[in-house]
Amino acid sequence: MKYTSTRNSKIKVSSAEAISKGLSADGGLFLPTEIPIVTKEELNALKNKTYIERAKFVLGKFLTDFTEDELDYCCKGAYTGSFDNELPAPVKKLNNTAYILELWHGPTCAFKDLALQILPYLLTTSVKKLGNKNETVILVATSGDTGKAALEGFKDVEGTSIMVFYPTDGVSKMQKLQMSTQEGKNVFVCAIKGNFDDAQTGVKKIFGNKELEKLLETNNKQFSSANSINWGRLVPQIVYYISAFIDMGCPEKFNVVVPTGNFGNILAAFYAKEMGLPINKLICASNANNVLTDFINTGIYDKNRHFYTTSSPSMDILISSNLERLLYLLSGYNDELIKQWQTELFNGGKYEVTKEVKDKIKKDFFGGYCNDEQTFKTIKETFEKYGYLCDTHTAVAVNVYNGYVEKTGDETPTVIASTASPYKFAPNVIKALGIKEVDDDFKQLDVLCEKSKMPVPKSILELKNKEVRFKKVLEKDDMQKAVKDFLNIK
Ligand SMILES: *Cc1c(COP(=O)(O)O)cnc(C)c1O
Repeated sequence: MKYTSTRNSKIKVSSAEAISKGLSADGGLFLPTEIPIVTKEELNALKNKTYIERAKFVLGKFLTDFTEDELDYCCKGAYTGSFDNELPAPVKKLNNTAYILELWHGPTCAFKDLALQILPYLLTTSVKKLGNKNETVILVATSGDTGKAALEGFKDVEGTSIMVFYPTDGVSKMQKLQMSTQEGKNVFVCAIKGNFDDAQTGVKKIFGNKELEKLLETNNKQFSSANSINWGRLVPQIVYYISAFIDMGCPEKFNVVVPTGNFGNILAAFYAKEMGLPINKLICASNANNVLTDFINTGIYDKNRHFYTTSSPSMDILISSNLERLLYLLSGYNDELIKQWQTELFNGGKYEVTKEVKDKIKKDFFGGYCNDEQTFKTIKETFEKYGYLCDTHTAVAVNVYNGYVEKTGDETPTVIASTASPYKFAPNVIKALGIKEVDDDFKQLDVLCEKSKMPVPKSILELKNKEVRFKKVLEKDDMQKAVKDFLNIK
């Protein structure tokens, strides 16, 4: 299977090349030139298999240049011992029609662990396969969860180093603490004055800087990305939708609800559908930053709007990078159209897709959003009604799903992606439940534990005694200099 770029269909590279580069040189995103199919028989055969075996099966469909042994090494390395649950992605029943897919049992308590525990294996294996001896420098812009998950994945991985930039006021206290106390010899963390889009734009600029690229090359280094623009992030996410479908007992059809920011997680669900899973609707849930809701409903993408800092910070995004992959697929691999829309987005912050693409989006997707007040109300109601405690991001998904059912009357079984542990966003969850707030961050965990009877994840408890290693706050224009300083190159 070959990989091409959303902005140049002539490009044909192996999956190892796509993963080791992260982003195509033309600024486009890598994706496979075809979508592999899974048959009913193959799905049935996965029923009694472990998550590792399911992952090997799905990855094998896409990473055809990886050997059986390499896939085995990557999947076992990633999913053995690093999750606090026997199953890395368990499915829980919420009510008669709704299931929750818990994606937060990894080391950083957010869904990104499912991909970022395996990405270092995929990346170092890819680099080795290509006979490349360079050190890989991972650059990450994060709205909170990616940064920590990438740091945990890449810390002390030989042949790599990692730099993480996060918006100083755009992440929760717990997220900040998780990152600033990061251990490891090859890690760098710093805050940026600005929002997530500023951090992401800064990182993209560094990737596009030819001079810097040359400078790295002469120092035997090369950049790569751990953001969901890297195909190696996306493909492991397809695994858990297939796994969930099997664990739900292979329903005739089902809906998937995803709390969405950069459009990576829901795109993985779209791939699962294209591979043959009987997904009825893909329900895209946004917070007050509802640029995707409007896009799904109108076909017009317009980022010229107020940016809200919400209680679901990992979804505070106005430029959803992975949408580019969906549009490429839906426009029939039309790289010229994608380039045109991305240029319009870059210049005026806005573009409108063709009627054909609009109709296809409407057929597969439903878009909805809710604000913080509705998010809090949903946390409280879901806990009171079903005894299930969700975090702020998951609550956005539950709220949008409830609205979808109300609007359509659809009773199709539905799986809701639960993307973070409620303990990761404890202050807001406590507020939502109407419990008297306490000042101390760690006392809050006890309060929540008493109320919910859910154990506090060990990795969060341990933060209490960790030393803060990274305190820097940079202007966004100083990011390139920070890279040079950290890598000690001039
Ligand atoms: C990253 C994240 C999201 C958004 O996922 P995308 O793949 O960017 O759409 C939602 N919830 C949580 C908790 C996250 O960390």
